[in-house]
Amino acid sequence: MSPRIFGVHPADEGGLPMAVRRAAAAGARAMQLFTAPPTYYNDKVSLKPEKAAKMHEVLDAVGIAREHVLVHAAFVLNTASPEEPKALRARAGLAKELERTTVLGAWGCCFHPGSAGDGDPQEAAVRVGQAICHALKQVREVNGTRVLIENTAGAGHTMGRTAEEIALMLAQVPPALRHRTGYGLDTCHLFAAGHDLHTTRDAQHELLAHFERTIGERPAFFHLNDSQHPFASNKDRHALLGEGAIGAEPFRWLVNDPFSEGIPLILETPAARKIVVEDDVTADPADTRMIALLEGFLDA
Ligand SMILES: [Zn+2]
Ligand SMILES: [Zn+2]
Repeated sequence: MSPRIFGVHPADEGGLPMAVRRAAAAGARAMQLFTAPPTYYNDKVSLKPEKAAKMHEVLDAVGIAREHVLVHAAFVLNTASPEEPKALRARAGLAKELERTTVLGAWGCCFHPGSAGDGDPQEAAVRVGQAICHALKQVREVNGTRVLIENTAGAGHTMGRTAEEIALMLAQVPPALRHRTGYGLDTCHLFAAGHDLHTTRDAQHELLAHFERTIGERPAFFHLNDSQHPFASNKDRHALLGEGAIGAEPFRWLVNDPFSEGIPLILETPAARKIVVEDDVTADPADTRMIALLEGFLDA
């Protein structure tokens, strides 16, 4: 078995069990999914236990462990917003994300902290931290499911582009709940935000060590994406690994670095197929190719 837990975020046409089959077909040991349409708040949407049971059956059948499943929260949840109605609805949406993720028994749900808008970034970070606390208080802990902040590319006033900002958000969470939170790093977002993960192996390791020192823990997952836009562009456009501005070598370093051990390493690279038929269980050819590429990067 591969010493690294590589995963994909497959198309979910035909339902989540079909997404699981497509991930397995790509050769993945991990996967990411949406539990509800990501362009809506879904603050009233629950996941029925029967639906989760169906998922567990398929995960068991294909050999993907529940703790290698990551849920991506809706993109519209702006918990950092200075506009109170927006922030409150996002807070409710995040709690529901954690609820659905917990019913699924997944590793955690990751979310983008959102934008501070015209407001003060410090206050925005506090609001994001409070939204995490709210979710953790609303949803009882089962199977160690966590709420995970995802770093951002830093466009506009988006929060979470630096280790310091992530640390400030997580610092709002009381010590008793702190083990139920954490953060993950998207390589495209790191690069777009101006972090050096691409010049040398040592610089990359030092960058990850800086996040660990500043936040007090290691990242809980990685999103492995190359970038369509140049370094420090603040633009979030993913590319296939080795076919963007980051290039292949930094991914070879990363998958052999101790920081990537034992956690989901999820590809969110562009799919080759434009249309996926509901009953098609085959993998996207680009996903299969990316997983094979990553496996080939591993030191013998
Ligand atoms: Zn994301
Ligand atoms: Zn992205």
